[in-house]
Amino acid sequence: MTEKIALVELPGGWPKDAPPRSAFLGLAPLGVGGESFEDLASYFRRLAELHLMRPWTLAMRAVAPVISGKSERGRRSIADVCYGLSMNGVTKLADQWVDALSQLTLRNDLHLRTLLPLRDIVPRYKLLSQTERYCPLCYLDDENNKRPKYNRLLWSLDCVKACPVHNVLLVEVRSFASNEGRPFFLPGISRLDGTSLAAANATPATDEQSCMARMTAHLLDDIHHHPEVFESNCSPAPFLKFAINKLFAGVAMNFAQHLGVGKGELSGWTSGDVRPSLPRLLQIAYCCGCAVSDVILGNKVMLRRVALLSPPPVLAPKRRNGAKRPTDVLLTELEAIVKSGAARHGKQAADLLDVSQKYLKKLSPTSWDVLVQRGAEDRRMRTVNRRESRFAEFNRSHAALARKMGLTPTRRDVHEDVFRRTGIRYRFVEGHDFLHRARAIAARPENTRKAR
Ligand SMILES: [Zn+2]
Repeated sequence: MTEKIALVELPGGWPKDAPPRSAFLGLAPLGVGGESFEDLASYFRRLAELHLMRPWTLAMRAVAPVISGKSERGRRSIADVCYGLSMNGVTKLADQWVDALSQLTLRNDLHLRTLLPLRDIVPRYKLLSQTERYCPLCYLDDENNKRPKYNRLLWSLDCVKACPVHNVLLVEVRSFASNEGRPFFLPGISRLDGTSLAAANATPATDEQSCMARMTAHLLDDIHHHPEVFESNCSPAPFLKFAINKLFAGVAMNFAQHLGVGKGELSGWTSGDVRPSLPRLLQIAYCCGCAVSDVILGNKVMLRRVALLSPPPVLAPKRRNGAKRPTDVLLTELEAIVKSGAARHGKQAADLLDVSQKYLKKLSPTSWDVLVQRGAEDRRMRTVNRRESRFAEFNRSHAALARKMGLTPTRRDVHEDVFRRTGIRYRFVEGHDFLHRARAIAARPENTRKAR
């Protein structure tokens, strides 16, 4: 049974009927509308700064225990989320973060700082951006208005490519390896050198990109202000039928051409079998000159044809071309790869053939099994080799210290010597095992004779 964590306590001597006090210091998320709402990840990073802690530490010490109880591993996986965008998304994880932070701050509006309100309205596909992006001019506005720099929720949406306020393209934040960059960073601050990102170059966006960003911001506003309208009846099919009749005299093919999508794709949407993703809903609304909410709710509003100037984005670009070759050619190449040992595992073979792993598995299940077994054996051998090379260093230090000191060295002495020489650190259990092995080697008759 997990112990209940007391999140809210009254200081001693306070009247019992005093209002509850939050565990975290008070901080309000910034922004007032769809274009300027702060996202939850940015809010949490600013909250950590207010508590003079790194976000990870605050997440590990205060948020993770509320979500995952006492398991160290579970708490670490929750805390690791704090630098990414996933807490802004629509998954269970985002739900858990919102609940935990709501309990700790006693705020009830934090779900509006995520994409959770969109969860039942649009498909999850291509909803949350995979990378953190920002508008340098928005940061500059923050600085000029003497408020903290913060990230807008709108930038977390994958389909938004530009800032609707400044009409410039969003800039991607470079990702860093765990040992690179500064460990503590706030929104708007470069993790590399700690300078303000407001100084970054801003590239002008096209009118289309800015307009689509604005339309997405309006959708967020609509959903925030009238959540009850979106509770049921979210099906774009009636709107599409209406648009085909109004704009193209009932000819679906012409409408599909106008949108720049295939007829099959459009027919899936109009039949209601497939729900268009947010980027596609945006494209439909833009091409019909109406709001995204109108498409989602099937509103019969005034429509006009608006042509797309740039080709519609390919949502799932094909990255591999190998499968275009005839099957027998691929099978011969695969056989040669397996025989020659050129691939150590399935992924490597798939890369060599320029096909996906799924395709390769289907192409030749027998060869795939061989590659999988080879991969497993390869991984096992690498683990053994790594362990043995770590032990070799341990034993080297152990033997050298034993010669120098004339008696059996302690584990700590060996650890310090190895760390000084190689920078290798040993875990407790590993060091314990290695010490036993090293002592057993030292106690062999040939080694004791040498020592004498
Ligand atoms: Zn901006």
